[in-house]
Amino acid sequence: MDHFLYRDGHLYAEDVPLSEIAAQVGTPFYVYSTATLERHYRLFDEALEGMEHLVCYAMKAASNQAILKTLAALGAGMDVVSGGEYARAKAAGVPGERIVFSGVGKTRDDIAMALAGGIRQFNVESEPEMLVLSEVASAMGKVAPITIRVNPDVDAKTHAKIATGKSENKFGIPIAKARAVYAQAAALPGIEVVGIDVHIGSQLTDLAPFEAAYLKVAELTELLRADGHAIRRLDLGGGLGIPYARSNEAPPLPTDYGKLIRRTVGHLGCEIEIEPGRLIAGNAGLLVSEVIYVKQGEDREFLILDAAMNDLIRPAMYDAWHDIVPLVEPEAGQERVPYDIVGPVCESGDTFAKGRMMPRLQANDLVAFRSAGAYGAVMASEYNTRPLVPEVLVKDDHFAVIRARPSFDEMISRDTIPEWL
Ligand SMILES: *Cc1c(COP(=O)(O)O)cnc(C)c1O
Repeated sequence: MDHFLYRDGHLYAEDVPLSEIAAQVGTPFYVYSTATLERHYRLFDEALEGMEHLVCYAMKAASNQAILKTLAALGAGMDVVSGGEYARAKAAGVPGERIVFSGVGKTRDDIAMALAGGIRQFNVESEPEMLVLSEVASAMGKVAPITIRVNPDVDAKTHAKIATGKSENKFGIPIAKARAVYAQAAALPGIEVVGIDVHIGSQLTDLAPFEAAYLKVAELTELLRADGHAIRRLDLGGGLGIPYARSNEAPPLPTDYGKLIRRTVGHLGCEIEIEPGRLIAGNAGLLVSEVIYVKQGEDREFLILDAAMNDLIRPAMYDAWHDIVPLVEPEAGQERVPYDIVGPVCESGDTFAKGRMMPRLQANDLVAFRSAGAYGAVMASEYNTRPLVPEVLVKDDHFAVIRARPSFDEMISRDTIPEWL
């Protein structure tokens, strides 16, 4: 459920007509609903009620500080995957003890920054990383709390580019090697083992792979405890999918996910962390764009939008399907025609949809891409020297620009010309 609904024939974000934001901000822009962000966070928080837990929002999904502050105010922690994300979470006021640090390539600088600023735990992804962490923490006179991310070799049954829990993926250590690596960890200075971490992929639309992974984690917990490790925290990752096509997809609900967690690892008495990103932000954001031209091709009609693959790369990168709706509500029974919906970038991959049935549209009409809140704005670039798409946050009947569109001058002046030119 989200808070983007038609009212009197016009699409709203909460109590704000999107056409009003378009008139003030210009297109294209991303818009997020505070109520939807909050609702999705609470669904997870409530799903884990009764177990000691922390919902760490995977901020790579949508990392604007206004979004982080909105969630942190409800008690959310953050899952960060880079030094930049750590700094951004801190800048948004998230305390270090609510930040977990994931990622396969943490640098010495990343590690030192997080140790200096405070960190809940590092999710260690390899032995070399563990050695560096031990070294950096020891040199700083600190003890770094760690979990070790295990790769359970489970097929997440999702798009290949976002599956992370198979042995062929670069993530985590093979679960079969876990006892040896934990033994090594226990002997190292500067680190303290606090638990186990697992994350098998993104956009999972079935609970079975989670169940398989969590059962393996439960078994490993008992084994490691028997080996003398104090396993008191389980980080179960993120990955719960969202419905992109409303009609034919029904991914599992956070409540059922919570029940699964209780069933698989609830008896272990561990503190539970989860790292949802997409489900919190995905359906809380839209990308709004204007039709520049309707172009008649030889055998098809093109809707040429002012948004492009550099603003929303998911269709080009993951073959993702986004619902695209006009801002003016189509009348019941209104004729629909097929369009290839494309952006202005000079690549054929800059295609959002092919043969998409839409009400007839004209130049200057506005459309919205639904479910664009996660892995949308954060993956935007300035390819083709197109300004980084702005972001807007709505709360009730007001809105604020939370990232402004840069001017051409701002973009161009970032280049420096060497003195020999
Ligand atoms: C990407 C990622 C997540 C979030 O995945 P979603 O599908 O957005 O919920 C959580 N944890 C880790 C380690 C990740 O890399």
